[in-house]
Amino acid sequence: MITPMNALDFIDAELTQASAPRVSRKPLFLFLKEGHKALIRPLSELKDAIVLRKHNKWSEDPNERVNAICAKEDGKDCIYCQKAVNDKKMNAQMYFYLPVYVHGVVDQATGQKLTFTKKDENGSETTEAISGMRLLELSAYGTVGKILKSFREFMREDDSPIVTELDFTLTQVGSGQKKDFVLMPKMPKAMPDHVKEIATALDLSEIRARILESCPPVVAEEGYSHPAGWESKDTDPAIKAIVQVVNNGQELDDTITDW
Ligand SMILES: [Zn+2]
Repeated sequence: MITPMNALDFIDAELTQASAPRVSRKPLFLFLKEGHKALIRPLSELKDAIVLRKHNKWSEDPNERVNAICAKEDGKDCIYCQKAVNDKKMNAQMYFYLPVYVHGVVDQATGQKLTFTKKDENGSETTEAISGMRLLELSAYGTVGKILKSFREFMREDDSPIVTELDFTLTQVGSGQKKDFVLMPKMPKAMPDHVKEIATALDLSEIRARILESCPPVVAEEGYSHPAGWESKDTDPAIKAIVQVVNNGQELDDTITDW
């Protein structure tokens, strides 16, 4: 027999979830700084890169910055496409997301391997060398356009192997206006087993979902726009309101005082 759930069950479930430490999300993108040199192995061919249109507008004011996958990629009306009618900088651009295995990143100034802080479910932190699956976010424009062009030109060579058959070094030279990237192919080499395992298990639709999660689209709905980061929750509004009150540390107003 199925026991019907009542509001208290939902409240308990929500409270447990709210007080649980945030499950650590694995880093998704490869970020480099000046002088950083990464040794990478593409995990899929360039033709299998994930293609998504994205609105990207930089502003001095963090609240004005836009970094959102176009809602049309989800088959919905996009607020930024509407804004792009009057603001060309708001236009969506085509982005290519290439999954790569990062063997490691070295800071050329110190010769040290770069690390990142990893938090586990219990909130304890460990420092690990950067390695594992990351995405290269590429477009034909801007500084990253150079990386895309290098990959493409490499593939045009008649006798060139496919990109998954060799490692590349990717180095960031300079920063700011002088920022540039240098992509250099290494000699073709069999994929190590631990990398092959990751390449075989690669789930492109899951990666696509994670990209949408980190650069959330904003849907245009009859003149109403959700703020960035908004996500729909299917919880009953009444229960949600109760949970909200409980979360805010207020007591439920179940005592009638105005007889
Ligand atoms: Zn759009």
